[in-house]
Amino acid sequence: MSLIVQKYGGTSVGSIERIQAVAAKVKQTRDAGHRVVVVVSAMSGETDRLLGLAHGIQTRPSPRELDVLLATGEQVTIALMAMALEAIDCPARSYTGAQVRVRTDSAHNKARITNIDGGRVQADLDAGQVVVVAGFQGIDEHGNITTLGRGGSDTSAVAMAAALKADECQIYTDVDGVYTTDPRIEPKARRLPRITFEEMLEMASLGSKVLQIRAVEFAGKYRVPLRVLSSFAEGEGTLITFEEDDVEEAKIAGIAFAKDEAKLTILGVPDQPGVAHKILGPISDANIEVDMIVQNIAADAKTTDFTFTVHRNDYARALELLQATAQTLSAREVHGDERIVKVSLVGVGMRSHAGIASRMFEALAREGINIRMISTSEIKISVVIDEKYLELGVRALHDAFDLAHAG
Ligand code: ADP
Ligand code: ASP
Ligand code: MG
Repeated sequence: MSLIVQKYGGTSVGSIERIQAVAAKVKQTRDAGHRVVVVVSAMSGETDRLLGLAHGIQTRPSPRELDVLLATGEQVTIALMAMALEAIDCPARSYTGAQVRVRTDSAHNKARITNIDGGRVQADLDAGQVVVVAGFQGIDEHGNITTLGRGGSDTSAVAMAAALKADECQIYTDVDGVYTTDPRIEPKARRLPRITFEEMLEMASLGSKVLQIRAVEFAGKYRVPLRVLSSFAEGEGTLITFEEDDVEEAKIAGIAFAKDEAKLTILGVPDQPGVAHKILGPISDANIEVDMIVQNIAADAKTTDFTFTVHRNDYARALELLQATAQTLSAREVHGDERIVKVSLVGVGMRSHAGIASRMFEALAREGINIRMISTSEIKISVVIDEKYLELGVRALHDAFDLAHAG
């Protein structure tokens, strides 16, 4: 008898009918002889609705109170799911994150799970119950409710699977696996039967929201067998594997993109030691994360131009800070652009193949797409382009690397 953790995302539990359909699926798994823990998200749209309510009162509500509010979304789903299971004679009990002691740090709205005490869940499983746990939430050492950041139910599920030493963690969503790119942008995208853990980590961190990045990190740390599947259709889904040899011989696994970036440039800064620190120090002091950084020496070699990207939510604040820095450094000017996106090619096969970058740049050039910034690592190449070229760029790259076809 194996233990399976199944996570169902927002659209999978988006209505009473969907919840009933999921309950039937869970019952099937239990009837087949497995022990099942179900982790659920809020019903689709609910987290956004709650955020809207909070912002109707304050532009920047207290992170602690926001967590108290947001955690209610998942609490509704666990109760409805347990009822739907009971209604079809499948014994079930629901728990909030706090009740099953999903302990986190105190970073409200983006808390990290530090420990899960699986005792209560284990006892219910031993008694033959299906255990339904609220995703996305936990409790800190002072008893405050915390949430894990958008998409955090994925992480709840993987952490629960790690704590219970589950045989598999299954992430059920509205697509039937991980694709070569978001199928909403490129209809020719192909489902990958397998993807390496490393590639999945890059895809998630570069913007593919099919799995939250921390869920992938957790799976790697505790070697949790992880699979992405559809709650709407049968199928094998995508297995995240830790064995590179298992994966088809492809240079590129997929294309990720992040729409929520913004770019800032400070021009004509006197080029002296410590200037990068002077520019980025105030930004990091304001807790703003910087992603890509490019520094150029200007033609006169006395000044430098400096460009970096931040999350679009932080753009206004970062621009203000940079303008202040420009004054103190007597820089010539400051530019900002919040209509940019980052598109990335990801693949472990890149390591051993030269020429991937030039092929990428050529494909974009052919479409007349200007590359604003470039950054590379061992298994990814990212470019920043204008937002209006997102779809064209992704599709051009998908074609150029023939990702619609295996191999
Ligand atoms: P859930 O509510 O189930 O957590 P999400 O909306 O968070 O679902 O994640 C699923 C979505 O991720 C898909 O609908 C798809 O648009 C998007 N997505 C982005 N990149 C990919 C990819 N490479 N493969 C599959 N889906 C992707
Ligand atoms: N309900 C939360 C969100 O919308 C968490 C999740 O769905 O994973 O982000
Ligand atoms: Mg999600």
